[in-house]
Amino acid sequence: MIKIYNTLTKKKEVFRPIEEGKVKMYVCGPTVYNFIHIGNARPYIMFDVVRRYLEYRGYDVNYVQNFTDIDDKIIKKSKEEKVSAKAIAEKYIHEIFVDADGLGVKRATTHPRVTQEIPEIIQMIQTLIEKGYAYEVKGTVYFGTKRFENYGKLSKKKQEDLEAGSRVQVDNDKENPMDFVLWKPKKEGELSWSSPWGEGRPGWHIECSCMAKKYLGDSIDIHAGGTDLIFPHHENEIAQSEAANGKRFANYWMHNAFLNINNKKMSKSKGNFYTVRELSELFTYDVIRFFMINAHYRSPLNFSESLMEAAANGLERIQTAYYHLTDLLKRTSHDKIKEEEVAIEKALNDYRLKFEEAMDDDFNTADAVAVIFEIIKLTNKTTTIDSSSSLIQLCLDLLDRLGGLLGITLKKKQELLDNEIELLIEKRQQARKNKDFTLADEIRDQLKKQGILLEDTREGVRFKRI
Ligand code: AMP
Ligand code: ZN
Repeated sequence: MIKIYNTLTKKKEVFRPIEEGKVKMYVCGPTVYNFIHIGNARPYIMFDVVRRYLEYRGYDVNYVQNFTDIDDKIIKKSKEEKVSAKAIAEKYIHEIFVDADGLGVKRATTHPRVTQEIPEIIQMIQTLIEKGYAYEVKGTVYFGTKRFENYGKLSKKKQEDLEAGSRVQVDNDKENPMDFVLWKPKKEGELSWSSPWGEGRPGWHIECSCMAKKYLGDSIDIHAGGTDLIFPHHENEIAQSEAANGKRFANYWMHNAFLNINNKKMSKSKGNFYTVRELSELFTYDVIRFFMINAHYRSPLNFSESLMEAAANGLERIQTAYYHLTDLLKRTSHDKIKEEEVAIEKALNDYRLKFEEAMDDDFNTADAVAVIFEIIKLTNKTTTIDSSSSLIQLCLDLLDRLGGLLGITLKKKQELLDNEIELLIEKRQQARKNKDFTLADEIRDQLKKQGILLEDTREGVRFKRI
């Protein structure tokens, strides 16, 4: 029985999908004008884990994550780089997939893009106007927040509080300060589409309501994103969808807490800002993912180099234990489980149940990773060359199953074999003889990248692994 903390009710609730055996899940995606940063990697990885666990529990998950491919920031960047907004979006969608693939994030069932959904967006805005929830002023269409009774139900904000505390721009065309834009008129030189309200483009919030409806239906099971999206983005999505469709929009609202850097909010101007790409070069994608899943998605998470190093060490311990088991499996000569191994078999099964209990409890990956460490402690202590291959296989299967579910890379990256290194050293010596020092240096640098250090000694070239 899976329990999910629902931001809407502020309680952990038993997960019951709308349709038995199926999950309709929508996760808000990025605006594509830059490489993703380490904070963005958190929802990517954590909701990927949620999806994998739901699949492990037998659900067929329809997972939708959008790309916002038209927006002020994209237009600004396209002007700076003197290329089209489309070219900027294409470039960063490609780069985001490179990072997401590296982090082991499974592709969504559908990755819709705003610019490919304009007719549906116009249709939904039209419906909102017809039903009296939206109004047009001089080519801009607004959602009238006071016209929707339940406005504020997710963020628990009341209209009066919202107005009193709001920093929203004064806009005399709006009925109320909290009203938000559904369609905005074209500005010179910007990408635009024709609509019943003139040339223009959609506001930000309407795309998610529209894509969720098109790809998942009027009512969905899980809607997710970072806590910063609760207000106004998700509040506005609820208003748009429920007003237009006349049905409850999402049953479970999940929000990941923020990631800070060295205990401070991430900020480009203060320099405490890292992209996933640069960190992948320093620590590898596998370590980044392992670092993330070590914390529960609702706990605030601090990022620092020393915490990343600790994560790298932890992952190394798991990979070493896994390697040790695969090595034993090749060398053991007994096959059937021995009598004295029955207790270990039972302990392994208990660990699986403990792992599932942690994950059933609002996807507690921190506790689930702790169980993986308990498993490797047990296997390190109890498996030897005298163990049966059946037991070793059981240990490997369990690690494959649970580690795979969290997306932990269990196999060490293929290391260069000694004779391959010797061949490269010979090639380098030959290059030096031919005075091709560029090639010689290239070979040395390549080896260094793979952790092989060359030392020129009187007896010839030696190498050591670092
Ligand atoms: P954005 O491109 O800023 O809309 O962000 C894409 C996703 O990343 C959203 O779900 C945000 O809530 C999430 N996000 C942005 N910054 C952070 C952060 N520092 N920690 C965790 N999640 C974040
Ligand atoms: Zn959204």
